[in-house]
Amino acid sequence: MTTVPRIQLSDGTSIPQLGLGTYKLDDDTVIPVIHEALEIGYRHIDTAKIYRNESGVGRAIATSGVARDDLYITTKLWNDDHLQARSAIEASLERLGLDHVDLYLVHWPFHSAGTAARAWEQMVEIREAGLATSIGVSNFLPEHLDAIAAVSDVVPVINQIEVHPLLQQAELRAECAKRGIRVESWGPLGHGSVSLAEELPQLAAIAEAHGKSVPQVVLRWHIEEGLIIFPKSAHSARLRENFDIFDFSLNATEMDAIRALNQDRRVGVHPHEGNWS
Ligand code: NDP
Repeated sequence: MTTVPRIQLSDGTSIPQLGLGTYKLDDDTVIPVIHEALEIGYRHIDTAKIYRNESGVGRAIATSGVARDDLYITTKLWNDDHLQARSAIEASLERLGLDHVDLYLVHWPFHSAGTAARAWEQMVEIREAGLATSIGVSNFLPEHLDAIAAVSDVVPVINQIEVHPLLQQAELRAECAKRGIRVESWGPLGHGSVSLAEELPQLAAIAEAHGKSVPQVVLRWHIEEGLIIFPKSAHSARLRENFDIFDFSLNATEMDAIRALNQDRRVGVHPHEGNWS
């Protein structure tokens, strides 16, 4: 079976570099998808309270036959829970049927409310209580990282942000690296909003040279950039395709060619705008 590389985090733990995203899968549809993914070899699952599928994720785990310790489970604190993070994670754990998650993320900085620092203070307590082994953030800009650094010495292990060839985020990734924060790419294949194969026809030649598909080349690019990814698919063949990226590598010319495709083009929401509650 394929061994997925692990990325070391600043708190001494490690995370499988490839996992399964679950955005847009509901409590029912997520169960067979997770079972299929675990069968293929996935061991890392990314969910969030707002995906409204934590109960399904929990049922899938409980009925999978895979030991809890072999799994890496992430969930996230939603905006309207910033001031009640402890009860929010307790409710998430209840739905997941778990006593802890491996990673708990502040889902958005909730820029308009300015509550990220107060949320982070509670995240630290959540980690100390053992409800989350590791804690991190998502959609944070340097200004938000500064805001939490002002109230706590505990640095997030991860910042989960939109990254794909159209939006490579070199500056924010460098800033995270400087602070010892690893980056997870959400929407690694374009978030289902754009087809990277259509937007970037240059990828086809690289894919052809390796006998791989464009999505596989894109996911391999993330891996070689040191990014952590969890592409979502509801389809068995695509789950396999997205996992089958560890038997080839991109050379320096190909990596540079993909880096040159950056357009600073977001297909998702800017961190200043993620203010839903
Ligand atoms: P992805 O970039 O993973 O793209 C998912 C889309 O691509 C789906 O429409 C899927 O369709 C399609 N797809 C998947 N594999 C293939 C393939 N091999 N060939 C062609 N199409 C494919 O987008 P996501 O937004 O789902 O991002 C991944 C995960 O990141 C999410 O599921 C979620 O866990 C997380 N996330 C976090 C956010 C945050 O704010 N922190 C925001 C958004 C996502 P189909 O299912 O029909 O196969």
